[in-house]
Amino acid sequence: APGEVVGFVRGLVGSFESLARQRDIQYTFEANPPALPVDFDADKLEKIAVNLLSNAFKFTPPAGMVTVQLRAETSPEPTSPRWVELTVRDTGSGIAPTQLPHVFDRFYQVDSSDTREQEGTGIGLALTRELVELHGGTIGLTSEVGHGTTAVVRLPLAPASGSPAEAPTSEPASLAPAFNSEP
Ligand code: ATP
Ligand code: MG
Repeated sequence: APGEVVGFVRGLVGSFESLARQRDIQYTFEANPPALPVDFDADKLEKIAVNLLSNAFKFTPPAGMVTVQLRAETSPEPTSPRWVELTVRDTGSGIAPTQLPHVFDRFYQVDSSDTREQEGTGIGLALTRELVELHGGTIGLTSEVGHGTTAVVRLPLAPASGSPAEAPTSEPASLAPAFNSEP
């Protein structure tokens, strides 16, 4: 649906502010450009962002940092971006290289013991990747044990309907190929 994606993400990020304060985690949000009118699926984007943010907070101990960035690559027409990129970086426990390829598997958790400290069922990232792919996008995770994790989601976007960048592109009828014509 048409909307303004930066304000939307800012609101989602804001909903974790009290948790950040409570956990003594330094929490920042940076967006460039500051506003971007585009068509996007708010429901999917909300689930994607909330899953990544809840992981970042869950696996980052007090006095750590969570940094969120939203960037867009725009064509010369600023209301016509090619993609937006959401980056969620934390200074938490990190994930070992041997575990990293598995974290997108359904129900996979690095610590699956009954005694583990963190709640969860291990479906957050599996669902997130499905939603990103439904949106035609990509997701990547890089991590270093003891230093933290960075998740990058890239979603292709169309300009908001009604914006000047969205000109009709249909060919004149005379140039349309006649796929159904009989020989
Ligand atoms: P759920 O999301 O269903 O509540 P979950 O958070 O355990 O449970 P996922 O979000 O799918 O499940 O993540 C899978 C596993 O990947 C986690 O259990 C954790 O071991 C690891 N992981 C994910 N994000 C991070 C992170 N930011 N830092 C460290 N480990 C992470
Ligand atoms: Mg999770």
